[in-house]
Amino acid sequence: MSFIAPAGTPLPVLLYASALLEGLTDAGATAKLARTLAQHSGHTRGFLFSTGRAAMVVALEALREAANDPRRTEVIVSGYTCYSVPASVLRAGLRPRLCDVDPRTLSFDLDDLQRFDATRVLAVVSANLYGLPNAMDQLESWARRSGVALLDDAAQALGARLANRPVGGFGDIGLYSLDKGKNITSLEGGALVVSTPLIADAIERRWQALPGVKAAHALVTAAKLAAYSLLLRPSLYGITRKLPFLGLGLTRYEDDYPLLKYPRLLAGFGNRLYARLPELTRIRRANAERLRESLRNVSAVEFVAPLPGAEPGYTRLPVLARNPESRSHLITALQEAGIGATASYPAALCDVPELANILHESDRRLPGARDIAARIMTIPVHPYCPGDHAEKVAQVLLRDATGSAVPARAHSP
Ligand SMILES: *Cc1c(COP(=O)(O)O)cnc(C)c1O
Repeated sequence: MSFIAPAGTPLPVLLYASALLEGLTDAGATAKLARTLAQHSGHTRGFLFSTGRAAMVVALEALREAANDPRRTEVIVSGYTCYSVPASVLRAGLRPRLCDVDPRTLSFDLDDLQRFDATRVLAVVSANLYGLPNAMDQLESWARRSGVALLDDAAQALGARLANRPVGGFGDIGLYSLDKGKNITSLEGGALVVSTPLIADAIERRWQALPGVKAAHALVTAAKLAAYSLLLRPSLYGITRKLPFLGLGLTRYEDDYPLLKYPRLLAGFGNRLYARLPELTRIRRANAERLRESLRNVSAVEFVAPLPGAEPGYTRLPVLARNPESRSHLITALQEAGIGATASYPAALCDVPELANILHESDRRLPGARDIAARIMTIPVHPYCPGDHAEKVAQVLLRDATGSAVPARAHSP
């Protein structure tokens, strides 16, 4: 049965070939990608790493060096975001503090932000999940007023804008990821973009000292990209998702990843897909808009509204179910209909066991983040979604809303 993957970026065969050729033959491919992402964000310098996680560790170490204030050991992160964010904070020798999140927007609860003693805070890290911009302008002015650095985590928001500014371009440092399921991908990779010379120099010194990704590893990743190129298609993804060794859809708390420079062999994928980013963003946004239209009368889910002035760069469309039971019921029904709905990250960060011992007492209960974790589900919006995707999603969700307690088995076409 055909199956629409939860997220992904189409990588047609010709694009694959030209991207690989660029990485093999163009000695300037990595520098070009770093420059392109810096320009995209409005920053002046860019640096590429093996993963977004590695980039984040380096960014926080550089901010600590630049701040040169031993009291500033805390980093405020969104109470609902990728587990690798607090893991990177700990890797950098800092303490994650958790700010609550507004379920209506998935942005920071700005009232909860007032709770922190800013003199102990080194940085605040945005989340911009699913390509929906956080209230970056307000986070930026809060950070400036408080003497706190802002790291704009745009791992899921390359191509998104807020108030006519690119997400990733707010604050002191921006971060992008090239992992699978992000806005563009080379399966692995992360970037930092920055302008302030003091911080940029601190990043550059660390980047220079890092070893590169091993050639053999980069070759394996290039081979995996060939598989990705084929298996992301709906006609094959039904098989792909059942391959256990791919570990698709699992959220693990990982903190033993290496800090390495990004390999040139993969840079062509970043460059070629970046050239397609405007079109990718346009298609994903149009699919999200169509879903919003179709789901208008579907009471089983609530749409997460982009903030005023936001132009999202969706990786997937987040919606909120009424409760956890209804959510798992809806996800099962969508998956049985061949649509890759997911429950996203399984817990608010205050409920992640690996963090339990280091959490500040006042960060242990985050009602907004918990509400999101209990009810959020994501719907695919990538270019492999078919023309009738929005109608199909609405049909499945409506059938549930009208009360069938047991989801009808999807009939094989
Ligand atoms: C994916 C992601 C990261 C980490 O990027 P990797 O390249 O996967 O290490 C950081 N923050 C957010 C919000 C992410 O979604």
